[in-house]
Amino acid sequence: MKAVIIGAGLGGLLSGAKLSGAGYDVQVYERLPFTGGRFTNLGYKGFQLSTGALHMIPHGARGPLASLLRELGADVTIIPSKPMAVIRNEKGNDINFHDFRKELSFTKRVKLGTVLAYSLKFKPDNEISFRDWVLKYFEDEFLLKLADSFCGWALSLRAADVPAMEVLEIIDNMYRYKGPGIPLGGCRAVTDALSEVIRSNGGKIHTKSCVGRIIVDGDRTTGVIVDGKKASADIVISNIGHIETSRMYDCMDQDYLAKTRKTRPSQGIKICLSSDEPLLGHSGALFTPYTRRINGINEVTNADPSLAPEGKHLIMSHQTTLSGNACLEINLGLSDLKMLFPDKNFEVLMVQSYSGGWPVNRVSSGSDRGNMTPVSNLYIVGDGAKGKGGIEVEGVALGVMNTMKVLLEKTG
Ligand SMILES: Cc1cc2nc3c(=O)[nH]c(=O)nc-3n(C[C@H](O)[C@H](O)[C@H](O)COP(=O)(O)OP(=O)(O)OC[C@H]3O[C@@H](n4cnc5c(N)ncnc54)[C@H](O)[C@@H]3O)c2cc1C
Repeated sequence: MKAVIIGAGLGGLLSGAKLSGAGYDVQVYERLPFTGGRFTNLGYKGFQLSTGALHMIPHGARGPLASLLRELGADVTIIPSKPMAVIRNEKGNDINFHDFRKELSFTKRVKLGTVLAYSLKFKPDNEISFRDWVLKYFEDEFLLKLADSFCGWALSLRAADVPAMEVLEIIDNMYRYKGPGIPLGGCRAVTDALSEVIRSNGGKIHTKSCVGRIIVDGDRTTGVIVDGKKASADIVISNIGHIETSRMYDCMDQDYLAKTRKTRPSQGIKICLSSDEPLLGHSGALFTPYTRRINGINEVTNADPSLAPEGKHLIMSHQTTLSGNACLEINLGLSDLKMLFPDKNFEVLMVQSYSGGWPVNRVSSGSDRGNMTPVSNLYIVGDGAKGKGGIEVEGVALGVMNTMKVLLEKTG
């Protein structure tokens, strides 16, 4: 059986590794000169910056991505973040994430325990946003700001733009799998290890190869057109989301098209800093609820010093984009950083803005549309089709697992 994969991002590579291991003849086509998509490294002045992600795996060595990597034989070491996260409170003090309740009155603390335990068991109706859910029970300024900081850092969304059900599912998973981790060698270590698995299973990865068209005959695809030539396939897996994929063939299913066009990407800005001294001093995330734009920051060199030149630290901040004015958003982010670290010397290495065809997430969390398409042997993987409650690359892994289960059951 021949499988063609469009795109060598994390979703495409996980699928390629699984299918090549199951005996498929796998051909991966990637339009760029490198593999890994938004989950690989960019070498710059001796720093390992990234094409997208903040070098963090949300559920660390015990999460869905880590267990899929182990199953596929991809050799990746994930270093646990310690502590999981820290919050900079209104007074400028850093408190452990697990102690956030101490910022609340006694009554709210007790109520939070009960409401959270109940809501994690019986998830609320999908209609209510996380912000409205917090407001409904607490009307607390600190909790609202923390909700925005958490959603901005973890999902590049405001709490008002993500369903409470999805965030509670994510919180549930945070408790289940424990905290995040940093892959030794950064994002690239993960995607390179998967490329290695595909090649060792006999699969091929073709870079600088842009797929222009998916050939559909009736309700089945028979292959793709790559740089003007046909590559035939028994199944096609697309790593570029439902919307972009549907533009590659004459899709007649109006209901499917209407639903996928309703989905929106999440957008954001990452600022990469260099410093001689640590700005955070730990390998977890720092949530910053009292800034104007920055939602969170990490300092990955506390886990893996090889991500920066000797004696330097690599610090990355992330903020969701709140207006259409990228310059304004970036300037507000830069002034937040000066406010957060007033006495520290740091250099801005790079500012990266993510939207359109290179977003933070192709489909914002909570509005994913599953992995199936109207074409019976065409599937979607990646962060345009994440699994339920799956944050970022954990969602990519869950989506790939769902797809592989259905596909391998169908094809035997
Ligand atoms: C600023 C930022 C911070 C993030 N931080 C984190 C984090 O810390 N942790 C985390 O878990 N996640 C994080 N993410 C999200 C994570 O990076 C993405 O969810 C993940 O990398 C998406 O992988 P993918 O396989 O879905 O897509 P992609 O990586 O986009 O892969 C798709 C590939 O398809 C290729 N392609 C497109 N069109 C064609 C075509 N026609 N023919 C051939 N190839 C094509 C593209 O070039 C690309 O390589 C972050 C993202 C951003 C932007």
